[in-house]
Amino acid sequence: MTEAWRPEDDQPRGASGPVRVRVPAKINLHLGVGPLRRDGYHELNTVYHAISLHDELTARRGDTLTLTMEGEGTGELALDDSNLVLRAAHALAGYAGVPPYARLHLRKQIPLAGGLAGGSADAAAALVACDALWGTGLSRDELAGIAADLGSDVPFLIHGGTALGTGRGEAVSPVLARPTTWHWVVAVAEGGLSTPEVYRELDRLRDAGTAGAPLGSTDALLAALRQRDPAVLAAALGNDMQAAALSLRPALGATLKAGEAAGALAGIVSGSGPTCVFLAAGESDAQRIATELAAAGVCRAARAAHGPVPGARVV
Ligand code: ATP
Repeated sequence: MTEAWRPEDDQPRGASGPVRVRVPAKINLHLGVGPLRRDGYHELNTVYHAISLHDELTARRGDTLTLTMEGEGTGELALDDSNLVLRAAHALAGYAGVPPYARLHLRKQIPLAGGLAGGSADAAAALVACDALWGTGLSRDELAGIAADLGSDVPFLIHGGTALGTGRGEAVSPVLARPTTWHWVVAVAEGGLSTPEVYRELDRLRDAGTAGAPLGSTDALLAALRQRDPAVLAAALGNDMQAAALSLRPALGATLKAGEAAGALAGIVSGSGPTCVFLAAGESDAQRIATELAAAGVCRAARAAHGPVPGARVV
């Protein structure tokens, strides 16, 4: 805990001007889903990877807490206290003992309910932005502690990079590998998929014995990252949720095929879907595959991205 803000402070700490924070989307290079736990969560064994598809949150001083937005999901996403941005601001204010006052504006590029953890990313951005605006000065580890209560993916989006996630995904440790940039194509689908529904479908497929063998450990994926060869990484990518996402949205099969036909080394469903991500051999390949996918009519939009990139940061 930091020292509490005192109303008698005539010079409040923190930023007087706007604070702008950029936060990436995440994909899972390996998403191993264990059995359902007693607390209703599944045990996860995952390798997170932050990619260069960003949301941006601007925080300004205000007399109340407000949220406005533009971009992906505008008009669809509630801007009330159910929004993860406002939940994160309240959580930080409560932890640090400061009034939760700010004018927040979200510019959203990460599609809603896309399996890219956009809501979690926005929560991470709100923690970092309000920490700077209010001068609460928490460490990244303290922010990640608050983040874990907001959602399983939020701590990773504070840190970014490539990291191992265990527990329900909230226990994050960085993957130490020599720096390598990987090139991806992100194929955004029309409409979203509800994560809890995809988990339920996975449980159903497993009960029926039709889900395929679970992925198991992350060892092969981590070894592939160390080899720094995209063809090797392509062979190690895997997602236990893919079968469930394909079962709920069979059209994703055509998206995956089209990306591979366009020259991607591998394609997988991102997290709970319906976004599909493709690994490309290099940057120009990624650009070309994105253009071909967009023209093929198998997704709403396709764009090239790279990773790993840092987590939520003031810019
Ligand atoms: P995950 O993979 O973490 O489950 P996702 O990428 O599939 O997430 P999100 O875009 O993170 O999906 O949103 C999941 C749900 O969270 C949305 O349908 C919405 O109801 C809720 N939500 C709350 N705040 C936000 C926000 N700022 N942005 C997006 N969704 C939000």
